[in-house]
Amino acid sequence: MTDTPPPRLSPDSIAIRAGRPDSGLAPTLCPSTTWVNPTLEDARRGALRPRSDRFYARYSNPTVRAFEDAMAEMEGAEAGLAFGSGMGAVATIVLALCSSGDHIVAQRQVYSGTQLFLQGVCPRFGIEVTFVDGTESGAFAAAVRPGQTMLVLAETPANPQLALVDLAELGAIAGPITVVDSTFATPIFQRPLEFGVDVVLHSATKGIAGHNDATLGVIAAELDLIHAVWSYSVLHGAVASPFDAMNGLRGLRTLPVRVRRQADTARQLALFLEASELAKSVRYPGLESHPQHELACRQMSGFGSVMAVDFAGGSDVARQFCEGVRLAKMATSLGGPETLVTCPALTTHAGLLPAELEAADITPGLVRISVGLEHPDDLLADFAQALAAS
Ligand SMILES: *Cc1c(COP(=O)(O)O)cnc(C)c1O
Repeated sequence: MTDTPPPRLSPDSIAIRAGRPDSGLAPTLCPSTTWVNPTLEDARRGALRPRSDRFYARYSNPTVRAFEDAMAEMEGAEAGLAFGSGMGAVATIVLALCSSGDHIVAQRQVYSGTQLFLQGVCPRFGIEVTFVDGTESGAFAAAVRPGQTMLVLAETPANPQLALVDLAELGAIAGPITVVDSTFATPIFQRPLEFGVDVVLHSATKGIAGHNDATLGVIAAELDLIHAVWSYSVLHGAVASPFDAMNGLRGLRTLPVRVRRQADTARQLALFLEASELAKSVRYPGLESHPQHELACRQMSGFGSVMAVDFAGGSDVARQFCEGVRLAKMATSLGGPETLVTCPALTTHAGLLPAELEAADITPGLVRISVGLEHPDDLLADFAQALAAS
C-alpha cells in the first residue's frame, strides 16, 4: 500500500518523487538476491509474507518494490507488481488467474506477442479465448460467459492501428477481471482504473523506462489482486531485474515532459503525413480524422507518441519510406527518445497468417511511427526527404 501524501498530487509531481523514500535523490540499485535474517522468526515471516522484499529476490527486491510502489501511485492503485517484460506481465496474469476450462474475452487488435500467447499458448492449457473487435460498442460484454469468463483483456490505444476501447464500458463489466494494456498512453495520458477497470498493465520497456535500456513490465491494481497474482508469479519467475527497475524509476521522473513533447511532435508529423498524397490514411488518436477521436478526447488527456500511416503505394512505398528516413531509425519498439519507424506486416506481425493480418487491419503499406524527442522541424524535413524519394 502506498501512502499518498494529502493533498493528492498531480501525476507530474508524483513522477518526480515516487518510489524514492530515501534521502538520496537518485533511485538506489540493490542487486542482492538474498538477505540475512536476524532470527528464525524473521526468516519465517519473510518466507510467508507476500512480496517480501528482503528475503529472496524472486519474492521481491527493494529496488523492484520501489518501482512497483511508484507505478501504483502513478495509476492511483493500491499496489503494483513488476515483471521481467511486458509479456512477462501478460503471461503471468493469464496463468495466475485462469485454469483449464476457463474462458477469456480478448481484443482482436492487440500487441502481436499478446495475440500469439492467447492464440497459441492458452488453448494448450485448455483456456478458451474469444476475440472481439474492441472498437465495437458492447462487444466485450456480449462475449462474457457468466461463471466461465475469468478475464477480459483489452489494449488501448492498440497496436498497430491505434484502435481505441471505451474504458467506461470496460469498467462497467461485472464478473470477470478486466485488464487494460495502457502501454501506448502511459499513466500521464490515461488512467484506466479511474474508469472502473480492475488491472492496468504496461510494457515499461517503452515510454515508462523510456530510454531503450530496460526490459520491464508492470501491473497496478487492488492489493488483494496483486497478492493473488504474486502468489503465482513467484513460481512462474518472470520477475523484474533490479537494474531494469532502477531504470524504470529513472525514466519515470521525466515521463511527463517526454510524453508531452512527443505528443506535440506526433501531432505535427501526423498532420504533415495526412496532407501527403502518398498516404492513404494516417491513424493518430489526436487527429480529427481518427474514427474514435471523440472517445480519445473523453478518456485520454493526451494522444501519445505512436501513429500509423498506410501508404497508398503498398509495401514498396512503405519500404522506401522506412529505408529512406535518415534521422528517424528503422527499429521496432516505441516510447524512447529516438524516432523509430517499422513496417508491422514485414516485422512484428510477420508471424501472423494473411487472414489474421487482414482481420487485424494490417496492410502491406502500413508503417508504424514512434515519435521521439528530436526537434520537430528536423523530423518534418527528414520525412519530407524520405517521401520525395518514394
Ligand atoms: C511492447 C508491448 C508489449 C510487450 O512488452 P515487452 O516488454 O516487449 O515484453 C505488450 N503490449 C504492448 C502494447 C506493447 O507495445
